[in-house]
Amino acid sequence: MIEFNQVEKKYANGTIALQNINLKIEQGEFVAVIGLSGAGKSTLIRCINRMHDITGGRLSVDDVDVAKLRGKQIRRFRRRIGMIFQSFNLVTRTTVIKNVLVSFVPDLSWWRKVTGVFTTEQKLKALEALDKVGILDKAYVRVDQLSGGQQQRVALARTLAQNPDIILADEPIASLDPVTAKMVMDDFKRINKDMSISVIMNIHHVEVALEYADRIIGIRKGEVVFDGESNRVTKQI
Ligand code: ADP
Ligand code: ADP
Repeated sequence: MIEFNQVEKKYANGTIALQNINLKIEQGEFVAVIGLSGAGKSTLIRCINRMHDITGGRLSVDDVDVAKLRGKQIRRFRRRIGMIFQSFNLVTRTTVIKNVLVSFVPDLSWWRKVTGVFTTEQKLKALEALDKVGILDKAYVRVDQLSGGQQQRVALARTLAQNPDIILADEPIASLDPVTAKMVMDDFKRINKDMSISVIMNIHHVEVALEYADRIIGIRKGEVVFDGESNRVTKQI
């Protein structure tokens, strides 16, 4: 369970991006965080895996106080939490499978050294993850040969290969066309339901959020202004 207790995030330049945040997110939920640009959505999800440090209150994941994690503990903690970005964050000039295998390397700066150091077991795990998102046939294709939707699925496979409990997704469909976006959202939904992985996603397409998420959290000026089941959200919001 992810628990925010009176969480505040103030950036170094004085911007208060989050305040008075109180939330409980249970394991296996599919949550969409909605709100205008600048509302604080991205800050909210990036505090969960300590990409940002909170400046007030308490944030815990399964009763672990996230602010108290140090060095190696942070790395271990982040392996349980997958992160998906709008821009995919892939190494585009190499193959799909190598991008997935990177999830087994704790430090990305090792990238140059990694050729050929993976075990058969790791390769099988990577292929299995690609199969889960329907792009097994692309394993040995270079990433820059793939469409945007296929690239986002590579990013999802890379995350799945670490067996996460939680996937954080920051505007994962923002740069995709509507048809491809639907395919990627279907993947998220399947992963959430079949594998009980929590999904917490920032999204500015409200209709898509309502269609896919179980719960909607609305953020405005750094505060939660709505929190409820998606089937209870009316068009007026
Ligand atoms: P922190 O360490 O406080 O979490 P970051 O390291 O993420 O902050 O950002 C460092 C600096 O980058 C900020 O103090 C700010 O000046 C600048 N910055 C980065 N992103 C933004 C943004 N979206 N809006 C305004 N300033 C930004
Ligand atoms: P959203 O994801 O809803 O667009 P953000 O979480 O990116 O919102 O930003 C919330 C507020 O914090 C905005 O006012 C933004 O400019 C500011 N902000 C974001 N990142 C930084 C940063 N690193 N330093 C300073 N201000 C930032």
